[in-house]
Order: sequence, then structure tokens, then C-alpha cells
Amino acid sequence: MDIDGNFGILVFNTQQRGGEMQKQNLCLTSVRLPAWLEQEVALGQILATEEERMTVAINLAARQVKEGSGGPFGAVVCNLDSGEVIGIGVNQVTASGWSAAHAEFVAWTMAQETRRSYDLGAEPVGLYTSAQPCVSCWGGLFWTGIARLVYAATKHDVEQYAGFDEGPVPADWQDALVQRGVTVQGSVLRSEAILALKEYRQLGGEQYNASLLKNS
Ligand SMILES: [Zn+2]
Repeated sequence: MDIDGNFGILVFNTQQRGGEMQKQNLCLTSVRLPAWLEQEVALGQILATEEERMTVAINLAARQVKEGSGGPFGAVVCNLDSGEVIGIGVNQVTASGWSAAHAEFVAWTMAQETRRSYDLGAEPVGLYTSAQPCVSCWGGLFWTGIARLVYAATKHDVEQYAGFDEGPVPADWQDALVQRGVTVQGSVLRSEAILALKEYRQLGGEQYNASLLKNS
């Protein structure tokens, strides 16, 4: 099992030495996911039902809060037919310093590494996430080849109970996915997901909204 998936951020090194521009050293900075993850779910594990898949996603969110290892969000990417887990994600924004490291992004990036393809559409793949995708994850989803989205807590829940700003998600966000062939089902085990959101706020979890939003 490889749950210590490496995820990349381009880092430009343009230091000059002796008046001569050094060759740019473009590298990928790895994001190491929390060690406890392997106690919750493994790549290759079979999660036969949609309820099992969502339960794992919510358990990841709840464990995040308990461990203090990031935002209260979890996600898994599974083959819809076999139930094979091909991607696992928890929010790593604060731990990695990477604003895009939402659970969904991390989960499908791992799936793309697992399948060695940017396009997961070669097989029927579903994303199970403890909360409705924010505007960033909603937008990113279109380019993944994921065919089904199942979420638990709603955007309103995330904003009301955990205090995050989810961005300008359009009112017809679900229709836009459906028009591209993505099926959507929401509010699956919603009340369980809300518990993690509430606990995160009660424990004083960091709200990593953009500074422009904080100042507005
Ligand atoms: Zn997101």
C-alpha cells in the first residue's frame, strides 16, 4: 500500500551565483499524508456499497479533527463496479501550505497517480466526499474523468457549522456536472458529517480562508 502519495507543487529556484543565472531547479515538493490514514482505509481495499465508501470518507474527516491533522474533510475515490479504493484524501492545506490540498483534490490526485493517468474516465470512477465540493474542487472535478459524485454535508453546512468560505459555487453546479455526464447524489450520511464540522469549530480549528476574504 502506498498511502504516502507524493503530490507536487512547482518550486522555482532562480538564485544567481557569480553573476550567472543557475539552471532552474524545478522540483516537486511532496505532501506526506498523516500516518494514521492507514488505520482507516487502504489503497486496493474493496468498499462494496456506496454507504461503506461514504462512511470511510466521513471517518477520515472525523479522524482529522481528533488528530488535529487538518481541516475536517475526507474523501475516497473508488471504482464504481468493483469498489476498489484507488485514491484517498484528507485536507492538508495547513500542513502542506498548499491552498489546493483539499480532500477531493488529494484523493483524485492519488487516484491519477495510482492509474498513471490524468484521465480517470477509462473506468467508472466515483468520488465520495464528506462535504459538497467547494468552488475549486467543483471546477477541478470536470477535468478528472470522474463519473459520479456523492457527498454528505452541504455547502451551507460547511459554512454554517465550520465557518469556512466555500467560494462562489453557482446555483446550477449540479446541473453543470450532470450535463457533462457526471451523476450527483448529496446529503448521504449528512448528519454524521456535520458532527465532524461542528467538532472542528468547537476545538478552535484553523479557518484557512483566503486573506482577502478575512479582510472583507
Ligand atoms: Zn475544495
